[in-house]
Amino acid sequence: MNISRRKFMWGAGASAVVAGSGAVLTPMLQREGVLTETPSRALPVATSEGPLPAAADVVIIGGGIQGICSALFLAERGLAVVICEKGEVAGEQSGRAYSQIMTWELDVATLPLVVHSKDLWRGMNERIGADTSWRIRPRVQTYVDEAGLAAAKEWAAQAKAAVANPALLALRFIDGAELQGHIPGARTPWKVGGLEENAASVDPEIGTPMIARYLQTKGVKIFTRCAVRGLETQGGRICGVVTENGAIRAPTVVLAAGSWSRLFLGNHGLELRTLPLYLSQQRLTAAEGTPRGNGAIGNGVYYRLQADGTYANAPRIFTAPLVRESMTIGWDFLPAFLHGMHGLPLHFSLNSDLLHSFETPHHWKLDEITPFERLRVATPTPSHAFCDLALERLRREFPAFEKSKVIERWGGCVDLAADVTPVISPVDRYPGLLVNTAHSFGMTQGPAAGELIADMITGARPKVDPAPYRFSRLAA
Ligand SMILES: Cc1cc2nc3c(=O)[nH]c(=O)nc-3n(C[C@H](O)[C@H](O)[C@H](O)COP(=O)(O)OP(=O)(O)OC[C@H]3O[C@@H](n4cnc5c(N)ncnc54)[C@H](O)[C@@H]3O)c2cc1C
Repeated sequence: MNISRRKFMWGAGASAVVAGSGAVLTPMLQREGVLTETPSRALPVATSEGPLPAAADVVIIGGGIQGICSALFLAERGLAVVICEKGEVAGEQSGRAYSQIMTWELDVATLPLVVHSKDLWRGMNERIGADTSWRIRPRVQTYVDEAGLAAAKEWAAQAKAAVANPALLALRFIDGAELQGHIPGARTPWKVGGLEENAASVDPEIGTPMIARYLQTKGVKIFTRCAVRGLETQGGRICGVVTENGAIRAPTVVLAAGSWSRLFLGNHGLELRTLPLYLSQQRLTAAEGTPRGNGAIGNGVYYRLQADGTYANAPRIFTAPLVRESMTIGWDFLPAFLHGMHGLPLHFSLNSDLLHSFETPHHWKLDEITPFERLRVATPTPSHAFCDLALERLRREFPAFEKSKVIERWGGCVDLAADVTPVISPVDRYPGLLVNTAHSFGMTQGPAAGELIADMITGARPKVDPAPYRFSRLAA
């Protein structure tokens, strides 16, 4: 463990301030949500046959939406791509998201990327000749007070100014019968709501695997249960990777390892300043009269109709586990924690994850078994208390859900930067290495982020300004 005493004390102080702030609503020690090995809930994607290729144009580390979409745009440009996934395709975040494809109240600086990504999703089924489960699901957001509504109107004005074609945002405020038509059966007499008419939905267990299966038909090799242990360099440049099953030579490597990216880079002396946050999810059966579409109702009610007619329902409450990194970089996150990330409630948990984070090796040699091989599909256990609360709120607002049954519950871990903005960027220290990670709305952003990575690699003119996503803003 090589955390300096000063850094540790500072971080521990920051954690204490955070823990002592009003954000902590209930005792941390009682929190559910512990990182554990979990079966994937995504459609299976068979591992490619045969031995690892000796060489490729690009090796991608991680088979989540970011790795798969990066591969999609690279393969379309004729590059030989190999994806190495330590567990299963979409086993972690990308198979566990709430998975609304949306813009509403996201950071204005990211809107050009998000709007373009929504457009790419619109054409995805046609692009791959298969059903990703993408469906248009107009999204309605209501507010419990005037201040929330006023802030949303202010955001909408800024959003329209931030994108080249505001019509693509498809945002407007609605009331009366039109609002009621979108949320039939709501008990609260909502007066005004924000409508995002072209918001969409991709079922997380289907979207990424379907694109991955398509990629395999186009010659992209996807090796599952194949962890990348580290990078190889020659003369300071990337020249390949070492996996648990052997080495692959490649001049370009894309790291899209989700919540593992920080650990991976740390072994190469690079600090990606991200912290894990846990979320819980559940899926419900439909019942007569349950509202269709996508609702974010101001009193903590969230539902999204899936392609198969079931519903995703989420508490939309972040839990920040206190871990080793909270001690070292927690301070960076203080403003975000105090002011809210995406405006969602935040809790803290103190449990065996803290011990686990200290036990996890942070440095290893490339002939050693790595942490990536020890947790193939890692996710936090869900908080049943939060899921119960989400269901109770949903039924209170929409009594039609009384007859809905819980099909399954799960947890998911996102790894976020303090500015809640992803990293889609080359890494100056290692020419040939690019990073596509730290997404909080990565299901929405996946296609445009993948395309941007392909633009960076092939030297094509990017469709969105890459500046907000540069690695250097987070690296120490
Ligand atoms: C509960 C929840 C709700 C969400 N809701 C939404 C939403 O409504 N809308 C939205 O747009 N986004 C949402 N998100 C965010 C979205 O799911 C993520 O931003 C996105 O899935 C991240 O994709 P990824 O590819 O970066 O990570 P992942 O899907 O986690 O993929 C990374 C992969 O890398 C693999 N890996 C790691 N290390 C290695 C290694 N060394 N070698 C090989 N493989 C490795 C992992 O096994 C993993 O499969 C939500 C997320 C969660 C958890």
